[in-house]
Amino acid sequence: MTVKVRFAPSPTGRIHVGNIRAAIVNWVFARGQGGVFVLRIDDTDLARSTQEYEDGIEADLTWLGLTWDERYNQSKRFDLYHRAMETLKAAGRLYPCYETADELDRRRKVQLSRGQPPIYDRASLKLTPEEIAAFEAEGRKPHWRFKLEGKRVKWTDLVRGECDVDTTSMSDPVLIREDGAFLYTLPSVADDIDMGITHVIRGEDHVANTGTQIEIFEALGGAVPTFGHFSLLVGADGSALSKRLGSLSIMQLREDGLEPLAITSHIGKLGTSDALEAAGSLDELGRNFDFAKMGRHPARFDEADLARINAGVLHAMDYAAARPRLAALGADLGEDFWLAVRPNLKLFGDVADLARIVGGEVTPVVEDPAFLATALELLPTIVDASTWSAWSSAIKEATGAKGRALFLPLRQALTGMDHGPEMGPLLALIGRDKAAKRLAGETA
Ligand code: GLU
Repeated sequence: MTVKVRFAPSPTGRIHVGNIRAAIVNWVFARGQGGVFVLRIDDTDLARSTQEYEDGIEADLTWLGLTWDERYNQSKRFDLYHRAMETLKAAGRLYPCYETADELDRRRKVQLSRGQPPIYDRASLKLTPEEIAAFEAEGRKPHWRFKLEGKRVKWTDLVRGECDVDTTSMSDPVLIREDGAFLYTLPSVADDIDMGITHVIRGEDHVANTGTQIEIFEALGGAVPTFGHFSLLVGADGSALSKRLGSLSIMQLREDGLEPLAITSHIGKLGTSDALEAAGSLDELGRNFDFAKMGRHPARFDEADLARINAGVLHAMDYAAARPRLAALGADLGEDFWLAVRPNLKLFGDVADLARIVGGEVTPVVEDPAFLATALELLPTIVDASTWSAWSSAIKEATGAKGRALFLPLRQALTGMDHGPEMGPLLALIGRDKAAKRLAGETA
């Protein structure tokens, strides 16, 4: 059996931290299993869906490297949903209801005041053809409810193990509104059957839906897929994800300069027993992904982890991958430069400042000209990668300075900064000419 999964966003906003987990987990699972990843745009809500958001979803997934093998729009598949609707009607599982929202609301209040659960009482199921005709004559349009069997629906969840949902405690769900619009529940099942989806992997906020949807799969005669419901993200302190974090968009993280692999590594490993560290690649994430590693506890999303993982991605990035991006920043100063500076990067863009030390001008910070004059006298005529350690030892011997008192003035003069990459490779990259001028206090 080939694994086939889908990510099914509604194009009513940009993808954010709160909903990208479904895309990443589905993608890495499919990749690890040699399976198929489907992008399904859930745009049955024509009023709220926009082309702009749809394009945004594609741009975000593409940037993250989450490419899809097949792609569908629900808005182009209404024929399929109508056929599913007719099948359910013919089986007596879809029935018209004529209550107005006000009537339903009043009934719910009465039930609650009597201490009863506010479950739909199926009054419309008992309507006679004459009563229905009278409503129609009044101009009322029906909405359509799915008649639940009222049983324990069971499944073995990839994350939560043995699960069951008692559909006797649920109202028959509305599948089609008065205006004929399909709500999410039925199209999703019709699509999952039609596309041959083998695994439905989504957040635990869908657990109750799964009870209903399994009944619909069965009523339509489709194969019931395997379900997996991962826990929801919470904030670093364990409380609900704040509005700001929950709606932090992938677009925003991209604009902030974060690496796509940092985001996929972080969110792909959250809530699993794997250490929260940068993966070498998306494929590696796929190879290592296993539902058995995923816990039921809420997964903590901490921006500090993301920043740390982002640095990890940069520290492991090879020159071939960095080169085009260095060139775009005018900072491609060769492989030695990249290897010297990458351990100091938090964001890729930080490299521009470091490139200036080697390829641009630096105004040296000079506090003790005499100390630097001694250093200059001791600077060998040929400066290479081995110079730094012998040279700084010679300065130490000549001046008695050691530790910070030895290294800081040299760094300040040579780079104009207090902190930065290791001086050994940097000095070789700066070269003797510029180094000599900077030690003499000149901008060079
Ligand atoms: N469009 C639905 C959502 O975003 C899809 C849920 C599902 O994966 O079935 O919640």
